[in-house]
Amino acid sequence: MEQKRRIYLDNNATTPVDPRVVEAMIPYFTNHFGNAASRNHPFGWEAEEGVDYAREQVAKLIGAEEKEIIFTSGATEAINLALKGAFEMYAKKGNHIITVKTEHKAVLDTCKHIEKMGGEVTYLDVNYDATINLDELEAAIKPNTILVSVMFANNETGVIQDMKRIGEICAKHGVLFMSDITQAAGKIPVNVKELGIHLATFTAHKMYGPKGVGALFVNRIKPRVKVTAQIDGGGHERGMRSGTLNVPGIVGFGKAAEIAMQDMEKDAARLSKMRDRLQNALLELEETTINGTTASRMPHVTNMSFKHVEGEGLMMTFNQEIGLSSGSACTSASLEPSYVLVAMGLGDDLAHSSLRFSLGRFTTDADIDYTIEAIKKGVNHMRDLSPIWEMYKEGIDLSQVEWSEH
Ligand SMILES: *Cc1c(COP(=O)(O)O)cnc(C)c1O
Repeated sequence: MEQKRRIYLDNNATTPVDPRVVEAMIPYFTNHFGNAASRNHPFGWEAEEGVDYAREQVAKLIGAEEKEIIFTSGATEAINLALKGAFEMYAKKGNHIITVKTEHKAVLDTCKHIEKMGGEVTYLDVNYDATINLDELEAAIKPNTILVSVMFANNETGVIQDMKRIGEICAKHGVLFMSDITQAAGKIPVNVKELGIHLATFTAHKMYGPKGVGALFVNRIKPRVKVTAQIDGGGHERGMRSGTLNVPGIVGFGKAAEIAMQDMEKDAARLSKMRDRLQNALLELEETTINGTTASRMPHVTNMSFKHVEGEGLMMTFNQEIGLSSGSACTSASLEPSYVLVAMGLGDDLAHSSLRFSLGRFTTDADIDYTIEAIKKGVNHMRDLSPIWEMYKEGIDLSQVEWSEH
């Protein structure tokens, strides 16, 4: 029997672990299994050495110092620590935080929690192309503003914000600049110092490392930033995050960072070529659009809408052979359109007709060939069956149609 084809184009959700990373991790499960906090014997020292080296590799990836890296269980925890920790630490200065409607839920839901704790949060709108208006950002800063949180690259659209300018605005007004760099770290150059970022959060499993390990960068000099610990205990990680370190995971994170630095340029060039080939082929389909600016976007991502074709239905036409994300999120009761695409101003129909393609280090040209064929066939098939598409082709203005309700 022919084995079912499996193509993975959902690398923004998670990446496979690079075999070189697995190899680096294995000794830390068995030989060097010590607790990195054990100071009295070589078992502990070996584990600590592994962690120290990884801290160097991870710091280097983003242009930081080793002492500025706090290991966590992932980006979600790092984001919670950064936002809640800064809110608590800088309570005397103010209680106002500025963020954006298209941020990851880890940021938005943490901000919601901070509002319940007495914080004030401004959620900025975005333009139709997913960029933020920098004048609006600057105008939102008030005397009680302590922090601005803007993600480097968006997970759904790949759109990159103007980090340099945002850093300048924050510096000018003396507010902290936090960035969720999860989607950018390891894929494109990120230098937190050059960009004026004070707090940055990222995770290993989006850059070919293991799940369950992430980091928070905390700027140490000019300004010396501090966050209040959210997990108390043995005082690990300079007192900012207690708990026995996930040594094999951290070693893997370090190795993933090292490989990313080596392969970044090569990977990005190869993937952007493949992404463009996929995108251009799909744009040959009628009424197909790209969501988010193409002028400032991650090299391996494209988010596209196929008008009058429902994304979830389209995915069913290729029989689970291609792993992709649609612009719909399943909640318990219904299919909700992506809040990111809605914030950009797409109607529910266009949001529901979108697919996110995120390529990765292990994507091949054959994967792209197959995907182009499958999507084209699927879109044409769905439209052939669709009375709405037929009406649209006949030139009927669908917004004027009065649908009867039975
Ligand atoms: C995946 C992701 C997160 C969450 O990371 P975890 O390590 O899974 O907690 C946060 N922000 C962005 C932009 C992400 O893509």
